[in-house]
Amino acid sequence: MNQDLFDREIQCPVCKNIFHTKRVKSSACRIEKRDTDFCITYSSTNPMFYGAIVCPMCGYAALESNFKDITPQGKKIIEATITKRWVPRSFGEERDVHDAIEAYKLALVCGQLLNLKKGNLGNICLRLAWLYRFINSEREQEFLAHALNCFEEAFLHEPLPIGNLDEVSLTYLIGELYLRLGRYVESIDWFNKAVGNPLIKRNKKLEMQAREQWRVAKEEFKKLKSEVQVG
Ligand SMILES: [Zn+2]
Repeated sequence: MNQDLFDREIQCPVCKNIFHTKRVKSSACRIEKRDTDFCITYSSTNPMFYGAIVCPMCGYAALESNFKDITPQGKKIIEATITKRWVPRSFGEERDVHDAIEAYKLALVCGQLLNLKKGNLGNICLRLAWLYRFINSEREQEFLAHALNCFEEAFLHEPLPIGNLDEVSLTYLIGELYLRLGRYVESIDWFNKAVGNPLIKRNKKLEMQAREQWRVAKEEFKKLKSEVQVG
């Protein structure tokens, strides 16, 4: 058994079933590196693998942070769509990256059916992109693009912060996602906005990173332009 994990008891808000799901002890988390889009690689068990909770009985799935938040109308939607086709299956044991991908995908399907906020869906898509990054899959780009669409809508229409993404971190992240998708003009624009936001002064590390990524985006754009001219 993996000593970094412990069991957490949870009651499903849809079917009332009580089940167990694993969590990683915070004392057991050892960070190896942080990517510029906030993805963290751990040399220990990755706590993100357990961030999407799935009820083994009815198939309802969501991020841990909002698993309990479901309306009576939402319960009916899950029962009529997910539970009807659900074959009982537990995600309560140790998860590998593929189990984690499945759990987050279920959370995404439920979240879409429940019409959750774009910020929440963006968070799920971003984590799916990171999980695909860990296995060097091309699908990373697809989910980065989904995350970007959700976050951009959330930025315009939803109250902030989204989890721990405050206004300036989200502005930065949107710039970073555009950069990773090779859309440099938009990327430069969003980094510009992040660096120009007075709130960034409260977070020196983010400010430095935003300036650095802004520079990278401008350089990539210049390269692209000269390639186009040569071609
Ligand atoms: Zn359930």
